[in-house]
Amino acid sequence: MIGYRTLAVPGPTNMPFAIRQAMDVALEDHRAPDFPEFVKPLLSDLKAVFRMTSGRVFMFPGSGTAGWEAAIGNCLSPRDMVLTSSFGQFSGLWVEMCRRFNLDVKNFDMDWGEGVPLDLYRRRLEADKHHRIKAVLACHNETATGVTSDIAGIRQILDDLDHPALLFVDGVSSIGAIDFRMDEWGVDVAVSGSQKGFMLPTGLCIMGVSDKAMEACARSDHPSCYLDFTDMATANDQGYFPYTPAATLMRGLRASVDMLMEEGLDNVFARHARLADGVRAAVGAWGLRNCARRPELHSDTVTAVVVDPGTNANDIIGAAYNHYGVSLGGGLGKVAGKVFRIGHLGWLNEAMVIQALGGAELALRHCGVNFEAGSGVGAAIERFTEARLDLPLAAE
Ligand SMILES: *Cc1c(COP(=O)(O)O)cnc(C)c1O
Repeated sequence: MIGYRTLAVPGPTNMPFAIRQAMDVALEDHRAPDFPEFVKPLLSDLKAVFRMTSGRVFMFPGSGTAGWEAAIGNCLSPRDMVLTSSFGQFSGLWVEMCRRFNLDVKNFDMDWGEGVPLDLYRRRLEADKHHRIKAVLACHNETATGVTSDIAGIRQILDDLDHPALLFVDGVSSIGAIDFRMDEWGVDVAVSGSQKGFMLPTGLCIMGVSDKAMEACARSDHPSCYLDFTDMATANDQGYFPYTPAATLMRGLRASVDMLMEEGLDNVFARHARLADGVRAAVGAWGLRNCARRPELHSDTVTAVVVDPGTNANDIIGAAYNHYGVSLGGGLGKVAGKVFRIGHLGWLNEAMVIQALGGAELALRHCGVNFEAGSGVGAAIERFTEARLDLPLAAE
C-alpha cells in the first residue's frame, strides 16, 4: 500500500514518536544500583494516572487479560462468590475466567449495548445479608459495544449497604483516556494494558491495587506466583522486580505518563469527549445507529456502529482495509458482522478522526450503503469547530 495506514481500532492505538524514541535504547541492567531511580518515580507517577494516593500500582509483563487473572488469583479463593455482568466480549470473557477459576459466579447476562446493571447489582447485594459476595466485577468501558458504565454508582451501592465486597474494575480501554478515579470510586483492583490509553506496544499489564485488596491477598487460597502481588510489592519497594521486567516498555511508559501529565488528565478526558462527540455526529449523519443503547452509556474511546441488516459489517471493514488502508474494528462475538467499530482513543486529534471517518465513508460507499457522501465527515467538522471555539487558546 502507498501512504500511511490509518489505525482506527480501539487498541492497539497510535504510538507517539516521543514514545518510540524513548524505547529506542540499549537493553539495560535491571539489577543496576541506579535502576530504582527510574522505577520508583514511575510507580508513583502512575498512581496519579489512576487517581490514587494510597495502594499500589503494578506493572506485569503481559496484556490486559493478565490483569483479570491477577485480580482473581491474588484476592479470591476457589468457590468465593462474585457478582458479575456480561454485555459484550470483554465483560463476558472476564466472567468466563471467573468460572475457570472455580468461583461461584452470580452473573447478569445483559443485552449487548447495555452496561453494568446498577439496579440488579443493588438488589443482589441487598439480598446478600451474610456478605458471601467477595468481589463485584465491572467492565468500565466495554470495548466491543462502546459502552461506558457507572463505576461511581457501584461504589455508592456498596457504601449504602455497607457491603465489604472488593470492587474489581476492567479499565483497559478507559484508564488514561476517560475519567477514572481509583480512590474516589473506592476501586480495589483496576486493570489496564499498555496498548490502549497508554499509547504503547502491547506487553505491559498496568494495575492499580488498593490497600484493602493487598490485605485480601493474605487470605487467598489460590496459588499465585508469576502475577503475585505480594512478591511484586516486596521487590518494588526496593525499586526492583521479582523477575526480569519489561524495562524497554517501561521506558516507553515513562514517556507516556509524561505526555499524559503534560497535557493534563482533565484535558486528555476533554479531548476524548470532543473527538467522540464528532464520531457520534458522523454516525447519526450516516443514518446508522450506535450500539450503546442510551446516550449516558456512550463511550468516549470507541464507537460500535450498527449497520443495516442487509449489510455485512465485515465487508465494510474489509473494504476499508484492503482498498483504503484503514483499520476499523470488527464486531466481536455476538455482534460479528453486525457492527464495525471506530476507535478514538490515545494519541489522536481531530484531523486523524476525520481521516478515519473519511475512510469509513469510502468503505461504506464501496459496499453500496446508501448515505450522502461527506455527511458524516461534515457533521464531525461542525462539532469539532464548535468545540474549538469554546477552547481557551492555551489548550491549543
Ligand atoms: C483490550 C481489552 C481487554 C483485553 O486486553 P488484552 O490486552 O487484549 O489482553 C480487556 N478488557 C477491555 C475492556 C479491553 O478493551
